[in-house]
Amino acid sequence: MTHSDLDKCARCHNSKCCTYITQQLDTPRSMDDFDILLWQLSHRDVQLYKDDDGWFLLLNTPCLHLKADGGCAIYADRPKVCRDHSNDFCEYDSPAEEGFELFFDGYESLLRYCKRRFKGWERRRDALNRGELA
Ligand code: SF4
Ligand code: SF4
Repeated sequence: MTHSDLDKCARCHNSKCCTYITQQLDTPRSMDDFDILLWQLSHRDVQLYKDDDGWFLLLNTPCLHLKADGGCAIYADRPKVCRDHSNDFCEYDSPAEEGFELFFDGYESLLRYCKRRFKGWERRRDALNRGELA
């Protein structure tokens, strides 16, 4: 990193790149796949998006090593994924959300999508409520 690169991170007061993690998913296709995602998005601070690279869970949970001043408390031992993250064009320049094709901020928005995507969604729910589906 050059001096100006470090200046950029110093100006980035909320150190956005250290406040979440993502996990790539197999492309969800079936109602059962989306049912699992609904369970996951029922948990606090868990969101879901799709971009050019596929589907990802987004866990908005700050790193435990992020210091109040935005520095890294384990800088010398930080994981490689942190070392590899470039600030050339990062969240400071443009919110990651701008690249999202789909974004679900929680259970309700994903449920609306499921009902639009699957004609049989509510039929399946009713059958589950009647105990007709395992
Ligand atoms: S890499 Fe980007 S998002 Fe992360 S601290 Fe530096 S400027 Fe902020
Ligand atoms: S280990 Fe350090 S660089 Fe990596 S996410 Fe945590 S605070 Fe950021």
